[in-house]
Amino acid sequence: MKRDEQIFELIEAEKERQLHGIELIASENFVSNQVMEAAGSVLTNKYAEGYPGKRYYGGCEVVDEVEQIAIDRAKALFGAAYVNVQPHSGSQANTAVYHACLKPGDKILGFDLSHGGHLTHGSPVNFSGKLYKPSFYGVEEETGVLNYDKIQEIATKEQPKLIIAGASAYSRDIDFERFRVIADSVGAILLADISHPAGLIAKGILNDPLPHCHIVTTTTHKTLRGPRGGMIMMGQDFENPFGITLKNGNLRKMSSLLDSAVFPGNQGGPLEHIIAAKAIAFGEALTDEFLHYQLQVKANANAMAQALVAKDYHIISNGTDNHMMLIDLRNKNVSGKDAEQALVKADITANKNMVPFDDKSPFVTSGIRLGVSAVTTRGLKEADMVAIVDLVDEVITNFEDEATLESVKAKVNTMMKDKPLFV
Ligand code: PLP
Repeated sequence: MKRDEQIFELIEAEKERQLHGIELIASENFVSNQVMEAAGSVLTNKYAEGYPGKRYYGGCEVVDEVEQIAIDRAKALFGAAYVNVQPHSGSQANTAVYHACLKPGDKILGFDLSHGGHLTHGSPVNFSGKLYKPSFYGVEEETGVLNYDKIQEIATKEQPKLIIAGASAYSRDIDFERFRVIADSVGAILLADISHPAGLIAKGILNDPLPHCHIVTTTTHKTLRGPRGGMIMMGQDFENPFGITLKNGNLRKMSSLLDSAVFPGNQGGPLEHIIAAKAIAFGEALTDEFLHYQLQVKANANAMAQALVAKDYHIISNGTDNHMMLIDLRNKNVSGKDAEQALVKADITANKNMVPFDDKSPFVTSGIRLGVSAVTTRGLKEADMVAIVDLVDEVITNFEDEATLESVKAKVNTMMKDKPLFV
């Protein structure tokens, strides 16, 4: 078969783009060579509907071992009692949890998308807002942080069946213990979606949801630095949190409800090549090296936030506890969309983002979200974050000046020259 040069040339072009630029998209990272190797391995050829030891296809002995190792490593990494590594994405993981715990029309309470939540937390354009009845909590206008008393008030008024604690653009740690008190007061199931800060949580740098939340979902490709994918977990003591009783009187375990919700409820064959890559990433995450990486992520995010504040950028909540920050650009007289486009011209990638109480549409927005997980993987340190803020500021204050954007691009390319994607 002739090699498909058209596609391989494009893959090479994307590799060059990643190598030359500064990657500040908070949800992205660079995986190790061994994670990449597994993701492109012969395991992509294998059908394995079902779970290790209980498959609907022959020849699954090897992938059974791979999947079991992924499960065991994830359990060790998060101190989880139950793990399902099959969800193809974070959205699929959340879909499966809703499918296991809710009926269409049930009420859910999530973080408002425009305040930092995710589409799958009840947005009207997503299945979660179409199939279920969502209500939302958000951040305080003054402080940019969550007000747990207000979340309690909304929960008491709305009586949701499921509460989601977690976000895509919230730079502060989350009080899962307090969320559990709120959930218990209304008899709701508590789901933590730790897609963004999972790597920091795994290494004990942020609050651990597993002792407090009934169910925890995550993506595996953000701070966790694995292949694109999702995962569902439960901590100790939550095998039967809701006492769901079958007709024969047996208690149906939550773990089997979740497993059935992933397959056959929501997916067919698992991606065993990606599960192998997840297993490798979890193995990497279990090392001390990964702890040092996450500590550097936190230090870099702090350095970036401080440098931005020093240049009069308005960071929502005034700083960060994790790997990211959300910036309100209204005092800089540039929209999120224009800032994003100008940054891309200078080979700096970030995404426009709604800010709390935004007066612009989701296609324009007043903000941008910056994250440091990817640049930290490339080996950059605190001093580099200050240099990056200088470059970002030069772009944003001259966003319509093509000559400035060209000169910043040259500086960006020099800065990233000879820096491998994964150090
Ligand atoms: N949940 C949160 C909090 C996220 O930030 C994201 C992705 O950005 C997801 C879920 C969905 O993940 P995926 O894009 O893999 O479906």
